[in-house]
Amino acid sequence: EETPVMRVVNQVFNDFKMIHPDFTFTLDSDVHSNPIVQIYRNHLEQVLIILLDNAVKYSTKRKEIHISASEDTRSVQIAIQDFGEGISEEDVKKVFNRFYRVDKARSRDKGGNGLGLSIAQRLIEGYHGKISLESSVGYGSIFRITLPIDKVETNKQATKEKSKKEKSDNA
Ligand code: ATP
Repeated sequence: EETPVMRVVNQVFNDFKMIHPDFTFTLDSDVHSNPIVQIYRNHLEQVLIILLDNAVKYSTKRKEIHISASEDTRSVQIAIQDFGEGISEEDVKKVFNRFYRVDKARSRDKGGNGLGLSIAQRLIEGYHGKISLESSVGYGSIFRITLPIDKVETNKQATKEKSKKEKSDNA
């Protein structure tokens, strides 16, 4: 499936703003073209939801979540940053493992069974992308996703296509 990545990012961003009005969400994008990635839209959505759900779940004090997007010629990068409890160096290596949870006692009341991140990783890698984590206890976490761009629809091109379509619709 050809998925316009930024459209999905924007949609999930808006959904989270609505669902969690007590949080401040920001979206900072350097992506000015319209990168298309070969990924099921639902899969990309699911990955973003897993990461944002976690960011919300593990940010009890500073309720601020920052999403950023950038691109180069080959790939598009999306980063999700929170300022929550963070993850120790030891645990950073393990959180992508199936059923791994950092603090079993403490996170039990937060629900979940330690599957989210392993699913996110499996999905992203299944599309030849990468997912990585940088974190520090007490300071928060940044999850980064990179996905290979299939093609780029420049905005100009998209507009042209659209007006072409409108013309033929009117014909
Ligand atoms: P679920 O299966 O519902 O996603 P989960 O959140 O426990 O439950 P994962 O998403 O796989 O499972 O996360 C694994 C563990 O990594 C979590 O239990 C939590 O300890 C830690 N973790 C994940 N995201 C963050 C985050 N943004 N900040 C701090 N810790 C996190």
